[in-house]
Amino acid sequence: MASRTPIIAGNWKMNNTIKETKELLTALIPLVKDAKCEVAVCAPYTSIAAAAGLIAGTKIKLGAENVHWADKGAFTGEISADMLKELGVEYVIVGHSERRQYFGETDATVNKRAKAALSRGLKPIICVGELLGERESGATDDVVIRQTKGAFDGIAADELKNIVIAYEPVWAIGTGKTATADDADATIAVIRGVVGELYGKDAADAMRIQYGGSMNAKNVAELMAKPNIDGGLIGGASLKAEDFAKLIAGVN
Ligand code: PEP
Repeated sequence: MASRTPIIAGNWKMNNTIKETKELLTALIPLVKDAKCEVAVCAPYTSIAAAAGLIAGTKIKLGAENVHWADKGAFTGEISADMLKELGVEYVIVGHSERRQYFGETDATVNKRAKAALSRGLKPIICVGELLGERESGATDDVVIRQTKGAFDGIAADELKNIVIAYEPVWAIGTGKTATADDADATIAVIRGVVGELYGKDAADAMRIQYGGSMNAKNVAELMAKPNIDGGLIGGASLKAEDFAKLIAGVN
């Protein structure tokens, strides 16, 4: 089994002005300087430049929350991979459930965004996960299999090292409800199985797959103790330096 470095990434969503970004990161940087895992913050576009300046030379890596698939052009309101790269962005969230639910993101557009990110040297954090109704009707595995296959369509094996998958059951995001560690591990094993089917066992063993959905300092240790869980994508608990730092300290 390949050893995988866990990655905890904060997803700030539409939170943190530049002023708030400065306050949060100034408090966070000393608290996570000895983190045993990789740490990233995915900031809204307007705060990325400020965040880049503050975290230069620290443990914290820079991420964005979305990227368009075109190089440039008439796509009002969108941001290209080159624009993010220029700001020093390393990771970019692709296909978050809020994008899928509210902004018409589909498996096909997730795939296009992931490929555009990779083509410019950005590392996509590709989100998959089932809705509550899908879980209740027993469709969880089918949904994550479909989403994972869709996201990886046409992606070459040598790109896999630059991809992180986030398994985020939609009903657990921002709700305070967490998947049980066993359920999260089992679904992540299914996702890992898809990567294995597409690219082989070594690739599946090497793929980092996070859990996301109301992860916090209290439940992180139990989730991280599971063999398939390689970190977390963190919304609410990444918005306060102390909360995020405590969660990160729970990763061993
Ligand atoms: C997320 O937005 O990806 C997320 C997991 O949010 P929360 O931690 O607030 O559930």
